[in-house]
Amino acid sequence: MSSSFPSAPVDALPVVVIAGRPNVGKSTIFNRLVGRRQALVADTPGVTRDRKEGQAVVRGRAIRIIDTAGLEEAAPDTLYGRMRASSESAVADADLVLFCIDARSGLTPADEHFANWLRRQGRPVLLVANKAEGRQGAAAAMEAFSLGLGAPLAISAEHGEGVADLMSEIADRLPPTDLPPVHKATRRTRREQAEGEEEEDIRPPGPLRLAIVGRPNAGKSTLLNRLLGEERMITGPEPGLTRDSIAVMLHDDQGPIQLVDTAGLRRKARIDETLEKMSVSASIEALKMAEVVILVLDATLGVHEQDLQIARLIEREGRCCVLALNKWDAVEDRAATRQAIKDRIETSLAQMRGIPVVAFSAMTGAGINKLLPTVRRAYDVWNRRVATGALNRWFEMMVERHPPPLVDGRRLKLRYITQAKARPPTFIVFGTRTDQLPEDYQRYLVNGLRETFDLPGTPIRLLLRASS
Ligand code: GDP
Ligand code: GDP
Repeated sequence: MSSSFPSAPVDALPVVVIAGRPNVGKSTIFNRLVGRRQALVADTPGVTRDRKEGQAVVRGRAIRIIDTAGLEEAAPDTLYGRMRASSESAVADADLVLFCIDARSGLTPADEHFANWLRRQGRPVLLVANKAEGRQGAAAAMEAFSLGLGAPLAISAEHGEGVADLMSEIADRLPPTDLPPVHKATRRTRREQAEGEEEEDIRPPGPLRLAIVGRPNAGKSTLLNRLLGEERMITGPEPGLTRDSIAVMLHDDQGPIQLVDTAGLRRKARIDETLEKMSVSASIEALKMAEVVILVLDATLGVHEQDLQIARLIEREGRCCVLALNKWDAVEDRAATRQAIKDRIETSLAQMRGIPVVAFSAMTGAGINKLLPTVRRAYDVWNRRVATGALNRWFEMMVERHPPPLVDGRRLKLRYITQAKARPPTFIVFGTRTDQLPEDYQRYLVNGLRETFDLPGTPIRLLLRASS
């Protein structure tokens, strides 16, 4: 059993402070991170009474989280005054400041003022663009680059989107502990990333987070048992995950893999819910926690609309996906079946072109040995960073070969491209009137990126920014 809550004294835990102007969603983020452990909120002596404090666990490490939202009312009567007063003492002691902005309303003078002040405090800052649900949100979030605090992390605290990424990003920035690191990753600052420096591998240390999803009876439980049967297993209640999820660890030759939301997998349909509806809602929960998602199909049944629906969710959430064709033992014409399924996926899910496919029998175990290596490869693609030089040489060639169309008789100029982040690979194209760049031209660029830089199967995000 992996043990649950911190044995270290609270004072020894790293401190993460949530700051930002009122109403950007600080309390909502706090609640997301602290979750049901809010019950453990400490009335720490010597701390202002209404400071909201809780604990969370990120990648196995307990942290203290302080929400500065509650202090605004009591402070001096200007907005800046209130923000400053509520944050000054908290920020001074912070190991990390989550500086939050509202991606929907865009940057305000108060955000800029606060960002300037924060930069001078010399504490590590993670810029969080909240309320960034959906793709529009992610684009709006990119505006926050201009704050000079590095690349913004787009999340939606209210919808739970990006919360697992937020936890990873926090874990990456914590001061070192006495515990040996699981995996040493060199990384550059987010400022350098924002400037489009050539990147090293920045994947976070710790286990790869994997979810198994699919329609009822596809064979998910059988697969889970098969994987567990062949692997060393450690189970235990893991704080920091959703309420009733159980952390199950597998190990392959590259390290630990954590299966997320296995409880959702075992949950059986309630009478008032149809099986089909439930498979989708359970999948949503699981894939939000995951980095890689195995979508299990019953290969004897081919591709069902429900499978496509789940695949689209995976794409929308920006996760990487491995398509598992289960019950391969019961398939008669294997070559034809594989081709038919692949064709259906490629035509129905153009956004996931090149998705890796593995066929096996969870029941007999035949072919199962290819599954985890395929998961690892998909994860590598999802984490990939393209060198800026090569990216821009490619971009010039693409634009030259096929210039963007005229809009109202004037040429739309595309200037350059940069990879803003990985996980999933996200690119920003700068130019004039980019908001009018037609969809098919965007697809031309995305398909080109996929082919040229070998990014099969992974969601690719293309954001457009106007530059003068
Ligand atoms: P605080 O003043 O910074 O602590 O902000 P709150 O956490 O109280 O949130 C302010 C408002 O924004 C509330 O109405 C929240 O429901 C809303 N909100 C918080 N997070 C999100 C989000 O991710 N998306 C959207 N659309 N609204 C959010
Ligand atoms: P879940 O609802 O997705 O968790 O599916 P289960 O794991 O409960 O499996 C549903 C049914 O499919 C069970 O009767 C399994 O025995 C059967 N099944 C699972 N995997 C295989 C397989 O690889 N081959 C065959 N022939 N049957 C399988």
